[in-house]
Amino acid sequence: MASLATIQSYDPRAWAGAWEQARAEEASTPQRQTGGIGGLSKPVLLGGGVALAALLGVAAWSFSGSDTGEAAEFGDVTPEELQDALEEEPPLVTRTFRLSGVAELQSTLTASGFEPTLVQQLVTAASPYFSAGEQVRGTLDFVSGDGDSLRLSRLDLRKRDSSGVVMTMDGGELSVSPLSAQLSQQVFARTGRMDDVSIYTSLLKAEIPNALIDDFFDSLAFDFDFAREVESNDPFEVAYRQTVNEQGEPLGAPELVYASLTTPTRTANVYRFVDEDGEPAWFDTSGQNIRRALMRTPVDGARISSRFGMRHHPIYNRSRLHGGVDFAAPTGTDIFASGSGVIEVARWAPNSTRGNGSYIAIQHDNGYRTLYLHMHAFADGIAPGVRVEQGQVIGEVGSTGGSTGPHLHYEVHIDGEKMDPMTVQGSDERTTLTGDSLRQFESTRDEIDLARQLGVQGAT
Ligand SMILES: [Zn+2]
Repeated sequence: MASLATIQSYDPRAWAGAWEQARAEEASTPQRQTGGIGGLSKPVLLGGGVALAALLGVAAWSFSGSDTGEAAEFGDVTPEELQDALEEEPPLVTRTFRLSGVAELQSTLTASGFEPTLVQQLVTAASPYFSAGEQVRGTLDFVSGDGDSLRLSRLDLRKRDSSGVVMTMDGGELSVSPLSAQLSQQVFARTGRMDDVSIYTSLLKAEIPNALIDDFFDSLAFDFDFAREVESNDPFEVAYRQTVNEQGEPLGAPELVYASLTTPTRTANVYRFVDEDGEPAWFDTSGQNIRRALMRTPVDGARISSRFGMRHHPIYNRSRLHGGVDFAAPTGTDIFASGSGVIEVARWAPNSTRGNGSYIAIQHDNGYRTLYLHMHAFADGIAPGVRVEQGQVIGEVGSTGGSTGPHLHYEVHIDGEKMDPMTVQGSDERTTLTGDSLRQFESTRDEIDLARQLGVQGAT
């Protein structure tokens, strides 16, 4: 089929030539795809031509648009009538084009050879349906008549979401009909294995959209310590929901709905579900919310430089408790509130060289306290009494106070006692869906699982 790329000329004679060629191809092709893009020739006979076309044995020709696809009455037509009809009605020519904005419509139609008054009429009618700079796909149906005159039959203009306008010329009257968007949603599944470089590059190699990578980390943050547990060759999988247009092209932002990761020690699969509170959250396959009261690692991409526990102090020659975990990370790395709560302390001490330096303490809803020491900066609005949510950035890693290099010293206190943040038990806040919520979750989960089995699946 002739594609638009092969049509370099706006000269209707060139199109007619291409039409002849395309018709010859069609005659030798028993079946032909309908609705193709860029085809020049959709040789539909006008008027009684539908019946004639059947007689001619061209039923396999594709009729442009759906309005000519009606069942036709095939009456008896003599060869003489056929000849007359062919002489009366030259074939309808279809041409497709793309504009980088509706502003190009005028020059395109003018260059195609339409009358200036008609061009103006079409441009005026079409313009309200498109914003400046919005890409437009056009399909033009016309009849090339005597001499240079072109007779418009139909002009169809669409945006990427298939909304737009269709203008038809009937007996000298232009009728204008708006077209609504033709969008659907699909769930796409992707699988891959971790490479030797990073989780990020591994996900990109698996063709997972960049926009989903943060969500992938968030969805599994309660199950894995990414900086330490993930190894090369570990398998992962994601599924995401994406709005697509009629051509299957993505529109708008994708949404992660499933994430799975298997490390040498365990596997976690999580499904996104919005319960009756309207809050999206991640659930395991049985409908348990996997959210924990405290994140284990309140800083991204950090390395543990010192664990919780007793240390022998070389200078004092005695053992003392290292009451938290040290995460080494560059100055300026974001620190998150590991759980929701209220800021209890936000002590600003940028010049101190001993003790905690600039630090924050958060009092959590369940009675736990967390402390973040040696900070470089506090986030805007952080002050005693201010409420923060889990995962909210409260400031940046630094090296203030008694610190030999940029790191976060992180502590968890339960009932005033320092606990090991990496092994704090009882900090899970698992809730299980029940009743209608559970049934809705199960239907969402099954839809996602089906999409995963099929690779891609239409969904609502
Ligand atoms: Zn420390």
